[in-house]
Amino acid sequence: HQGANAAPPLGAERVGAGIGRMCNLVFERGLGSWIFTSDGEKYLDFSTGIGVANLGHCHPRVVEAVQQQVGKLWHAQVNIAHHKQMLDLTEKLEMKVTPKGLDSFLFVTTGSEAVEAAVKLARHATKKPNVIVFQGGYHGRTLLTMSMTSSGTKYRAGYGPHAAGVFVAPHPFFAFHSQTSRPDDATWAVEQLELLLQQQTAPSETCAVVLEPVLGEGGYVPAAPGLLKGIRDFCDRHGLLFIADEVQSGFGRTGSWFAVDHDDVSPDILVFAKGVASGLPLAGLAARRELTALQPPGSQGGTYAGNVVACAAANATLEVMSGSGFMSAVEARGAQLREALELLRQQHPEVIREVRGPGLMIGLEFTDKVGKGFAQKVGKACLQRGLIMLPTGIFETLRIIPPLTVSAEECEMGAKILKEALEACLS
Ligand code: PMP
Repeated sequence: HQGANAAPPLGAERVGAGIGRMCNLVFERGLGSWIFTSDGEKYLDFSTGIGVANLGHCHPRVVEAVQQQVGKLWHAQVNIAHHKQMLDLTEKLEMKVTPKGLDSFLFVTTGSEAVEAAVKLARHATKKPNVIVFQGGYHGRTLLTMSMTSSGTKYRAGYGPHAAGVFVAPHPFFAFHSQTSRPDDATWAVEQLELLLQQQTAPSETCAVVLEPVLGEGGYVPAAPGLLKGIRDFCDRHGLLFIADEVQSGFGRTGSWFAVDHDDVSPDILVFAKGVASGLPLAGLAARRELTALQPPGSQGGTYAGNVVACAAANATLEVMSGSGFMSAVEARGAQLREALELLRQQHPEVIREVRGPGLMIGLEFTDKVGKGFAQKVGKACLQRGLIMLPTGIFETLRIIPPLTVSAEECEMGAKILKEALEACLS
């Protein structure tokens, strides 16, 4: 495969430099777990376009729903009238998908907008300005969400001044990263939150705590056992709202509809995007109706918010994901991959520090021995062998996020290519 050696295509110089990319391949077509370039090369996609193509590329049920909707109506502006696809979608979400008690939905177009909408809602509902986020979190590239992001300075440097009212709580993963002895992570993290309220932002001026239940861009780090419950209690104790950013971890990625479901914790506001519509631009939030009911009509929305074709894609996506055995297959493929990667770790204990993460949201972190840029090097070696895999976080980590529909054979193939690529990088 050409992989990372592909030369820039004609016209590449006209695409702004701010959009970074891993390689110069030109994608043309996708089917299931596979993506094809304009040169006719075929790649196994363990990136799913950063956790988006959860049903694989061009799932026939979604293709059909989109084609039907495009032929009927493709722009039904939500500040003018209702459309049926959105009404159907809210019913599905409330009845089958989102945690109990979240019975009101706002739709926008991107994950960043949805996080912003959640903070706006929290501020409006509590009449308090400040928001607490976690170290290592990624929430988007707009001004507020960039200001809430601390997964890496590359998203922030040169773009200040940043939005005010954002306070960053330390995350145990970073605080104790290479230490063997550590306190209980969840207890420690909640203690740090208590300190933040005492030292930096008082409960009387703090509206919400925002957490990714599994850090995505921050390095594929699942919340420590008890942390979600700890944050839920902390918020209740101090009159704050709990916002879960499930843009990357939502819609089956972790083997349940949302990562918070594993802990049976209900946030006040749940933010989703990416997988919801299999890649058509749709994002949104789920909240308690008593919160959204107070917002002035017209203060949320947007020209493309809740686009009718994207909602049709979401309805089809949710129908496929609701099929019997869907989530258990995610668990089974996740277990298969973790087992293969764990075996690889045992074969290379000096090189692989940890394999972690629920369902098909798996992170593989290398040890300090490998040196800076090693994860990217392995990613490139995978690409050369026809496998797309993305690095993440500030430590050397690869994320393994195949489509949720990936087959056992494709998992076996992906793990085999990764092993070959890793060993080639070590030799
Ligand atoms: N939150 C999280 C957890 C994300 O992973 C992302 C995207 N990587 C965003 C928010 C922002 O979403 P978008 O890129 O659609 O604006």
